[in-house]
Amino acid sequence: MYQHDVLVVGAGLAGMRAALAAKQAGADVAVISKVTPVRSHSNAAQGGINAALTDRGDDWKEHAYETVKGSDYLGDQDAIEVLAQEAGRAVIELEHMGVIFSRGPDGRLGTRHFGGQKRARTFFVADITGQAMLHVLFEQLLKAGVRLYEEWFVTSLVKENGECRGAVALEIASGKLQLITAKAVILATGGCGRIYEPSTNGLIVTGDGMALAYDAGAPLMDMEMVQYHPTTLKANGILITEAARGEGAYLLNGKGERFMEKYAPTMKELASRDVVSRAETTEINEGRGVNGCVLLDLRHLGRQVIETKLSYINEVALDYLGLSLAEQPIPVRPGMHYMMGGIKTDVHGATFVPGLYAAGETACVSVHGGNRLGANSLLDTIVFGRRSGEASAAYAAERDAPTVPESVVADEERRIKALLDRSSNGDNVAKIRLEMGGVMNENVSVFRREEGMKKALDTVKRLRERYDRVPVQNKGKVFNTSLIFGLELGYMLQVAEAICASALSRKESRGAHSRVDLPERDDVNFLKHTLAYPTNDGPRIDWLPVTITQWQPQKRVY
Ligand SMILES: Cc1cc2nc3c(=O)[nH]c(=O)nc-3n(C[C@H](O)[C@H](O)[C@H](O)COP(=O)(O)OP(=O)(O)OC[C@H]3O[C@@H](n4cnc5c(N)ncnc54)[C@H](O)[C@@H]3O)c2cc1C
Repeated sequence: MYQHDVLVVGAGLAGMRAALAAKQAGADVAVISKVTPVRSHSNAAQGGINAALTDRGDDWKEHAYETVKGSDYLGDQDAIEVLAQEAGRAVIELEHMGVIFSRGPDGRLGTRHFGGQKRARTFFVADITGQAMLHVLFEQLLKAGVRLYEEWFVTSLVKENGECRGAVALEIASGKLQLITAKAVILATGGCGRIYEPSTNGLIVTGDGMALAYDAGAPLMDMEMVQYHPTTLKANGILITEAARGEGAYLLNGKGERFMEKYAPTMKELASRDVVSRAETTEINEGRGVNGCVLLDLRHLGRQVIETKLSYINEVALDYLGLSLAEQPIPVRPGMHYMMGGIKTDVHGATFVPGLYAAGETACVSVHGGNRLGANSLLDTIVFGRRSGEASAAYAAERDAPTVPESVVADEERRIKALLDRSSNGDNVAKIRLEMGGVMNENVSVFRREEGMKKALDTVKRLRERYDRVPVQNKGKVFNTSLIFGLELGYMLQVAEAICASALSRKESRGAHSRVDLPERDDVNFLKHTLAYPTNDGPRIDWLPVTITQWQPQKRVY
């Protein structure tokens, strides 16, 4: 058994920032991660991080307003104000830690333009911003002496008298289950993108923390809000960063027209992501696409810009399509990218379960509402990572050490043994995972309708029944990745069910939740958050009002 004040689950940007803050506040902190920290999905972030810096005449209120508008008025405005006000500090702090942000010709930190915002306020490191940030934070973590449980997989949370008091985890290298108790736990486990197939997300992004919290009694908020990114590759879902359009790339249809002029006359390619994804899907559905895609044209930017500021995606285009961005437009289409919903928290990361905190993509503070602005997610991980670290350390300082009995490990051992003991029945984890991904991508995506969402919910329920009988092929102890895949699938199915049920209950169109059968936004009845709780009959949906401070809902035009 291991014991700490604060246990952070997840070593992406949110988890590392949280751990550093808790450590600096004097807590004994440990971080646990199912993969080597720098392989967390944060590593894949390309485009950048938003902040309104006053030294260049920008104003946090403008950033906050555009975030509220981007969210289709579903974001909580008190939380958005915190995000925008603390953004400058977050970026400068990262710079001081050693993140080598790209600079402009005048030597100052450079910015690029991102969607849904009138000003260029996205700070970046070429098109590898996440990687640069993650490596620097990892160095800081090592320097601070934070204890790391690397390649340990959390299988359940531990509660005592209603409070969260630690977790049980599988040490992947040995197959041993271990109890780690803590006075407070922070879930920073990232999103759940792989519920969809394809997705821009890494294979490990399977919603573990969302399912763990949901099971422990912390509701999931706004789970119907799933972001489709406008520019992904058809064959494999790989992301082509919004920075391409930020630097000036055009979207063209099969007739060579810049079709965004029709849908968003002012912002065009840089309208909010939900708007651009719908426009592309409409062009494709109405026969103006190119083999199920539209074209992203960077040729007019010239080789110099492409090779210095967008070299990573240039390589991606060469490797996967055999095309050079400087010579030819590339086919792209909307693809599943980000989960706006998540574990409901306040602005200090606290969930509804005492002692349990959440930060980063797994959490819903909520700053993204119905649609996240590009480059606001990295910001979310840093701002609310730090806040949850500070709050959990303060909470832990007031608590006695947990007295969780070792027997919780034996219970968990029995559960996992039962999974391993199942005999072959012709079904397998990969098949169920693919079926889930396909049905979600077809029915709970850019455009939705009642029958489709019902079909997805029914399918997920049936897949859960099959999951309860599916065998894990490898029965071994050491590095049993098929066991991990099996456990992850359980989490994904649970979260998928919450997504479908939440989507069915929102009977309007707002942000990423666009219903063909109910195309209008309905502020009278649905200016509120969905909250999903598990019951034996599937998710129960409750509602919570949206916090509005200074921006009343208006029609959204770009
Ligand atoms: C391709 C791509 C590009 C992106 N580009 C941008 C961008 O330019 N700007 C922007 O703002 N946003 C971007 N995003 C979104 C942003 O990167 C993510 O939302 C953010 O990095 C998530 O960080 P996180 O710390 O919450 O989680 P992650 O970085 O996903 O980390 C999750 C951590 O949890 C651990 N974990 C999960 N489950 C378990 C378990 N059961 N047991 C133990 N450990 C577990 C993992 O090991 C990992 O360390 C992008 C996303 C993708 C996919």
